[in-house]
Amino acid sequence: MQLYSTNNSDLRVSFKEAVFNSLPADKGLYMPALIPQLDSYFIRNLPQYSLHDIAFFVATALIGDDIPEADLRRIVSDAINFEAPIRPLDSGLAVLELFHGPSLAFKDFGARFMSRAMAFLSAGDDRVLDVLVATSGDTGGAVALGFLGVPGTRVTILYPKGKVSPVQELQLTTHGQNIRAIEIDGTFDDCQALVKEAFNDQTLKSAFRLTSANSINIARLIPQTFYYFYAYAQLLVQGMEEVVFSVPSGNFGNIGAGLLAHKMGLPVRRFIAATNVNDTVPRFLETGRFEPRPSVQTLANAMDVGNPSNWVRIMDLFGYDNALVKQAVTAFTFTDADTRRAIQTIFDRYHYVACPHTAIAWLSAEAYRRQYPGSYATVFLSTAHPCKFPDMFAPEIAARITIPDQVKLLAGRNKEITALGNDFSAFKSYLLANS
Ligand SMILES: *Cc1c(COP(=O)(O)O)cnc(C)c1O
Repeated sequence: MQLYSTNNSDLRVSFKEAVFNSLPADKGLYMPALIPQLDSYFIRNLPQYSLHDIAFFVATALIGDDIPEADLRRIVSDAINFEAPIRPLDSGLAVLELFHGPSLAFKDFGARFMSRAMAFLSAGDDRVLDVLVATSGDTGGAVALGFLGVPGTRVTILYPKGKVSPVQELQLTTHGQNIRAIEIDGTFDDCQALVKEAFNDQTLKSAFRLTSANSINIARLIPQTFYYFYAYAQLLVQGMEEVVFSVPSGNFGNIGAGLLAHKMGLPVRRFIAATNVNDTVPRFLETGRFEPRPSVQTLANAMDVGNPSNWVRIMDLFGYDNALVKQAVTAFTFTDADTRRAIQTIFDRYHYVACPHTAIAWLSAEAYRRQYPGSYATVFLSTAHPCKFPDMFAPEIAARITIPDQVKLLAGRNKEITALGNDFSAFKSYLLANS
């Protein structure tokens, strides 16, 4: 696999370089130089394959011989050791549940695949691999569990103080071993800026073997394409061929992976970008101007992103042609009040409990169906297990949530947290003092 930078299409790096650099030096993002086309026979016959088969096939098409086949198959099977079921709720409406992994959020797909790919590609290097990750809530937990106990690796998680849920905080701060958590007095965007700055700092770059686990890493993006193919396989079994995916979006990695799958040949009628009031992309689609704003805190905290990093990848996929992007992506924005009402409505109508992020995807799916009636399946993505947000729900709804064992076990554990301000010098000193 060869990749270029969104800032320089002449640059070429291997998969391994892209994974460990995370970002090109020119501050663009890595993109596959060639988007492989999956043959239509494979697409038509998707229902014959398991999630592991599909994941392996798609990963092979993208990554090629940068990872030998047998190793890639093992990495994929080991990483995706949980299901991604589609649950029909109504005629033409279904939810794709992506929260059955160990951290109970869809980020397990990316984090587990990336940690295993990195461990494989590092074999033979004896310097510790330092993974820096900024999280608005769910990434950190998934990355921590993905790397926990992986020899030769250390994870440093930055999260915005007071802006993650109690369960999320426990998932970030109670592992010990090779995982450490830093709460930043600031926003997710501040955390992300600190990580980005660390990668551009010469002292840190020579002191550590740094890499990033954010959704900007290509090894996070690739495994997120798998479940779009798998979802389509399940829809074909149910006799549906036309599909619209509604994707709860923050940093736009998830929907970006869907659009990459689409470019590889997956038939999708349209993608819906569902956002909370952090509406930089919906505004862009309306005005043609990309004007990031500071992030605003909402109930769907994993989507509180004012400057979505992965958007440039989507523009790149469509040759920076606004009209083409608008043909592929429709966006909707909803407030916290809308989100609360939606959680209740989804429960009343379908006896289904949706987390706030998922509720926004459902609202957007409904808005789309009203605007464009037709006979197609609308699938909204459920990105987190509702138990991660216990304070969100009315008692009758909360009573219907089954708490998975891994969450029950977290409750009694000790948190270990370092508190820092949002200035880079403090973060840099911390890293150098705790090497
Ligand atoms: C990260 C996250 C999102 C947003 O995904 P992006 O890829 O950043 O757009 C949505 N929902 C949940 C629960 C998440 O953890």
